[in-house]
Amino acid sequence: MQAMMMHRPLRIIDILTYAVEAWPDQGIISVRTEGDIHRACYPETLGRVAKLSHALESMGINLGDRVATLAWNGYRHFELYYGASAIGAVCHTINPRLSAEQLVYIINHAGDRALFIDTTFVPIVEDLRDQLPRELTFVILTDRAHMPDTVLDALCYEDLLAPHDQTFDWKEFPEDTASGLCYTSGTTGHPKGALYSHRSTVLHALMVPTGQTRSFEAGRRVMPVVPLFHVNAWGLPYTAPLRGMTMVMPGGNLDGASLFRLMDAEKVYSAWGVPTVWAGLLEEIKKQGRVPEEFDDLVVGGSAAPKVMIEDYEARGVTVSQAWGMTEMSPIGSHGMLPPSLQDAPAADRIAAKACAGRRLFGVEFKIVDDEGQRQPHDGDARGELYVRGSTIIRGYFRNDAATKAAMDAEGWFGTGDVASISPEGQLVIRDRAKDLIKSGGEWISSIDLENAAVSHPGILSCAVISIPHPKWDERPILVAVAAGDKRPSLGDLHAHMAPHFTKWQLPDDVVYVDALPLTATGKISKLSLREQFADYRLP
Ligand code: ADP
Repeated sequence: MQAMMMHRPLRIIDILTYAVEAWPDQGIISVRTEGDIHRACYPETLGRVAKLSHALESMGINLGDRVATLAWNGYRHFELYYGASAIGAVCHTINPRLSAEQLVYIINHAGDRALFIDTTFVPIVEDLRDQLPRELTFVILTDRAHMPDTVLDALCYEDLLAPHDQTFDWKEFPEDTASGLCYTSGTTGHPKGALYSHRSTVLHALMVPTGQTRSFEAGRRVMPVVPLFHVNAWGLPYTAPLRGMTMVMPGGNLDGASLFRLMDAEKVYSAWGVPTVWAGLLEEIKKQGRVPEEFDDLVVGGSAAPKVMIEDYEARGVTVSQAWGMTEMSPIGSHGMLPPSLQDAPAADRIAAKACAGRRLFGVEFKIVDDEGQRQPHDGDARGELYVRGSTIIRGYFRNDAATKAAMDAEGWFGTGDVASISPEGQLVIRDRAKDLIKSGGEWISSIDLENAAVSHPGILSCAVISIPHPKWDERPILVAVAAGDKRPSLGDLHAHMAPHFTKWQLPDDVVYVDALPLTATGKISKLSLREQFADYRLP
């Protein structure tokens, strides 16, 4: 029997129109490339989004056209999220830290019609100009007074908006219409595109706040340090207005001292980003001897949060939670809100739970399978590749049948490439990326576990474990580390420190000190670069 309920298509613009009516005093605070701080409430923002939607239409942007961005976290980038999708176009966020070759590939593969660029990234585009589509329109995200001298034939964003009306008769289209496009950073082969819809984006925005309610207090300020070009800043430009929060956008200054100053001045309550950023902030917090005023809630994701980092923040009164996900999942699949049974548990038990990836969000199903494709029990011990299914997960890659075929199983689940176990209580533990696991003498060693143990040594600032080919054992782990001070712990020191958590054969065969670890375009430690760097390394 057919139900008798209205069917209204889910639309992204309705998040903002809702925020305007329900939370008109909240909005967006941005550090601008112009050097100052910009403040706008949601009603002002909606007015500018309307102007942008008109402007895009006047540029000939139509339903399904891709509108690309190369921009920091700021209000104009936020406007593009809403302004493009509201007319049925696709907001294609591009990671400016990718290589020139990858940028050229992505822009051409996506078939972008327009490219909106922060002034910082104009030189990058100038260098690539000859390899980009001829008909691509460039728009620089600034006002007339700050337009840079450039060889690009580029429009000025504020001039583009100026003549247009502040209201728009928002269009209706099916909720499966494409709204956003983001390419994975492509550690092997070309980057692959995840094409989101209005439906998947709105559902994700509704789902995420249920996974970690504490982070989403109306009236509080939330700061995405995770870039708007890294899987939609994990959905915050949608969840924040929906939950009546003000966003603090840090622009391009992402070092610990700049973040501390901004968080302090703008009273940031919740901050989201990858572990490397929070290691930088922690150094500044130690220097200052305090955490930024009102800072209460830290969400870590993108790669495993070191246990010692969780402990350090928690000891300073900041609640830490860990989220796990992927570009292909919009991105969040699980979040680490403590279950009620652990709220008052001893600190060690709470930290151990927080070092896991949390429990699945409603709408994201998990299965783990072994090498033969057999489902494994959720008993906390059985490990296997994690597959996911749900309305916020891709059913294929944009214009890439080969990658689609490789990623989906016969039942239509998406293979994450992560090796995981799930406890009977639903706790997800990411053991490793399949390609980062070390296979020694037929047994697997988790690089994440070794890194967690090594970085808890006071002499180690940061580290990564990679595998080295070995004639007898196939592979052996080595530790590549940055020392915390002048005194570098010896391999023997580290073994003594790590031994309680491992059997002897699991411990790394060597430690090599470096000045800095290479990072990926999304700010994670790049094991691919490390493996290349150590290609000729021989075990002592
Ligand atoms: P890329 O690394 O290509 O930028 P994503 O940002 O989508 O792509 O990265 C997704 C991967 O990051 C996951 O498959 C997983 O290996 C890793 N990851 C993300 N969050 C966590 C976490 N909390 N713990 C461990 N690994 C994580």
